[in-house]
Amino acid sequence: MRLDFSAFFQFNCVLCQSSLKQGQNGLCSTCQRQIQQYIYCGGCGAPLQYFSRYCGRCGNNEFAWDRMVIVGHYDESLSRLIHRFKYQKQFWLDRTLARLLLLSVYEARRNHGLTFPQAIIPVPLYHLRQWQRGYNQADLLAKTISRWLEIPCISHIVKRVKHTHTQRGLSAAIRRQNLKNAFKIDLSKPFPYQRVALVDDVITTGSTLNEIAKLLRGLGVQEIQVWGLARA
Ligand SMILES: [Zn+2]
Ligand SMILES: [Zn+2]
Repeated sequence: MRLDFSAFFQFNCVLCQSSLKQGQNGLCSTCQRQIQQYIYCGGCGAPLQYFSRYCGRCGNNEFAWDRMVIVGHYDESLSRLIHRFKYQKQFWLDRTLARLLLLSVYEARRNHGLTFPQAIIPVPLYHLRQWQRGYNQADLLAKTISRWLEIPCISHIVKRVKHTHTQRGLSAAIRRQNLKNAFKIDLSKPFPYQRVALVDDVITTGSTLNEIAKLLRGLGVQEIQVWGLARA
């Protein structure tokens, strides 16, 4: 008797369900092309009309981080994937999304002169939220990329000690107030890294990342990169 295992090894595109030759990390080339990439500032991630490494506003030191890597616009395909990944317990989409982020990191290395970080840090979730969801989506992304790039993922260093609601639509002053003391640095283990990348899923106001970046600066980190799937 011959057992047919083909069904176990069949891969389908996570968006359109067309069959894939190999795993391809879940996306067919057509769906991958539909993810709207855009020209952005390598410092703050602002959309740009023409390619430039930094935008005109980046000299103002508005943010505490130095570099930004973004996959694309938070629209149709990308937002659907992220929504399923975050809210529909489809944690196995981590590879698909991490691969898109990895490609954008390589692109930033080519176009923005990005240097690989020495450590990758996921943006933490509040423990209760993580318990409800069962996982931290940023942590899954960070760990997958860390494995591929062979750069350590340091999840313990930043802890979220306060629950915060979305900061979108709030004034800068209120955002600052909400995020005050929301994060803590855990120094129980040495942290010898000078250049790090913070990984998040969707970047909205950037105030959360900014808060964490300030704490990392306090540790003496020289260069802070922010890697995100989408800027919304
Ligand atoms: Zn597809
Ligand atoms: Zn900029």
